[in-house]
Amino acid sequence: MPRVKRGSSEFNPPSSDEQVAAMRADVRARCEDRPGVYRMTSANGEIVYVGKSKRVRTRLLSYFRCDPEEKGARIVRNAASIDWEYTPSEFAALLAELRLIKKLRPRLNVQMKADARHFAFIKITRGPANKLLVVRGASDESADVYYGPYHGAQRVNEAVRELNDALGLRDCASDRRMHFADQPELFEIAPRTPGCLRYEIRKCLGPCVGACTVNEYGTRVRMARAFLEGVDDSPLAALRDEMLASSERMEFERAASLRDKLGRLEGLREQFIRFRFAIETLSFLYPVPGHGGDDRVYLVRRGRVRAERPAPKTPAERAELLALADDVFNGVEFEGASVPTHEIDELLLLSSWFRRFPAELERTERHTIAKKRRLRIA
Ligand code: SF4
Repeated sequence: MPRVKRGSSEFNPPSSDEQVAAMRADVRARCEDRPGVYRMTSANGEIVYVGKSKRVRTRLLSYFRCDPEEKGARIVRNAASIDWEYTPSEFAALLAELRLIKKLRPRLNVQMKADARHFAFIKITRGPANKLLVVRGASDESADVYYGPYHGAQRVNEAVRELNDALGLRDCASDRRMHFADQPELFEIAPRTPGCLRYEIRKCLGPCVGACTVNEYGTRVRMARAFLEGVDDSPLAALRDEMLASSERMEFERAASLRDKLGRLEGLREQFIRFRFAIETLSFLYPVPGHGGDDRVYLVRRGRVRAERPAPKTPAERAELLALADDVFNGVEFEGASVPTHEIDELLLLSSWFRRFPAELERTERHTIAKKRRLRIA
């Protein structure tokens, strides 16, 4: 493929009918009907769109049949040339497309992209007095880890509100200045006033008014992380105790409100359990038959492809693949529910692939089983 510019906002005049006809003729003359990825490049060398298909020729020719108001026609009008690369399989094409989009960020893919933005994630912000933030998609690279993905942003927002209240974490603007109790003051100043009511009603520890130390606040943030990681249920237990106590005092309205809060937090926990199960299920060796015998084996750990090799054909190649699998699967790794930002899209892609094609899971083999059988899949 020729050297090309990354996406830019520069205006490109629409391609002429002659250019569009030339692109179509080029596809007709050269393109084969097999899996692959393609790129549309504008006259000034900007890659405007990246796509994939299990039949590249058919897919590319379909662009030229689109009605003018359709997305495909718009893409073609932005392009002056098309180039493509074949991949061994549809799965390989999906991965290649994802990686190209992440690398090049083509303008039209970014505008049309929906995938990860359907989901909500919880991120823990950096800086003093970290806070939990519910975000759509995972495009902000400033955070180390996200928790999620979760369905239903509104429900996740409500659950995070309960978690903040239960643990006394702040939810004010990120740029609000914090003053911890153990933070030395350069000048003596009048007593501070809290930035909102949450401190007065004991829903926030009050790091804005020096009502807690760095360590006290940090302990609560660690509890929130532990809850999101699934290793600490104390926010649920505290709400449950409070609900029972209210009920015993015959404060039924309060008990009902606590029951709803509990339900929201439990909903978050259930989603977490399902998600964690999905991550942990997606750890195996995945052999994929390729076009013309170009078979591959993907080493998938916790929903991400960690390595890819041609399918072994000899005992020596099998041994080599098993040694690589030992490195991939035995490497020490934090096994919580958090996912590094840059890997979320790949995790979503793999989970959706195996949801769409559950029969594919039957061809996978767990690392431990592969070892025992000396790699049945090859
Ligand atoms: S009490 Fe202070 S730190 Fe807590 S949420 Fe309100 S403004 Fe933020």
